[in-house]
Amino acid sequence: GEALAVSARVAPLGSRLVLLLVEDLTEARRIEAVRRDFVANVSHELKTPVGALSLLSEAVMDASDDPEAVERFAGRMQIEATRLTNLVQELIDLSRVQNDDPLEDAEPVRVDELVAEAIDRCRHQAGTKQITMAAGGTADLSLWGNRGQLAAALGNLVENAVNYSPARTRVGIAARRVTAPGGEHIEIAVTDQGIGISDKDKERIFERFYRVDPARSRATGGTGLGLAIVKHVAASHGGEVTVWSSEGQGSTFTLRLPEASAARERVTDHHMPG
Ligand code: ADP
Repeated sequence: GEALAVSARVAPLGSRLVLLLVEDLTEARRIEAVRRDFVANVSHELKTPVGALSLLSEAVMDASDDPEAVERFAGRMQIEATRLTNLVQELIDLSRVQNDDPLEDAEPVRVDELVAEAIDRCRHQAGTKQITMAAGGTADLSLWGNRGQLAAALGNLVENAVNYSPARTRVGIAARRVTAPGGEHIEIAVTDQGIGISDKDKERIFERFYRVDPARSRATGGTGLGLAIVKHVAASHGGEVTVWSSEGQGSTFTLRLPEASAARERVTDHHMPG
């Protein structure tokens, strides 16, 4: 409608310009639609635990003379409250990585420290599922970027590997330096022996709120925002995240990020205030 009307008015200016304008409007519309979808998704995701909490609190009141029932409902309230907290935290993380320029306070970040932190974060869950975690190749490698964002990205990948794997399997984290045309990069690959991801879903898992199996994801405390955060962090650091997966066999998520080179460190030393 609008785009066509505009294109008719500017048609005499030449078809190239018209094409550009139409593309611009289409892109603006697309961005607006994505924003609307996001708000609708957030609202829906918030409503679910809030609605459950409201029903459960009513149930607690009705069951006031049955201590066992009260305990059961209170336990479920706790689960819903945790879900809500996770969701709000991930929304804050997502908005941070979208709004903060990671290179503003970039520093060398040691890969072995990031990996240790990510493993620590999942130790409890991996323990209850008897999942073995092993890391290799991380010594003497440093990334260049925002420590908090990089930790969130790797942490999410390792957490997913544990969440989407059956008991008594292995999660491996392997780092190596790769030479790419744009300079030295580091690849960190997180490999699991879990449920895997179909080709169709592979294209969508990095979208905000996209989950292959929402029920399973919710049961593990998932919000559907983790991989969107990972993708954003990788891109804003000048890197990327890729996935290889075979359904029923497992997945490998690979983060490729710029290495902290001596030259970069010198540049920031000069810019240090004071
Ligand atoms: P969630 O909070 O649901 O884990 P993510 O954005 O981290 O959200 O992941 C999106 C979806 O991608 C998950 O719900 C899951 O279906 C799928 N997924 C992510 N990591 C893995 C993995 N290692 N193995 C299998 N499926 C995965």
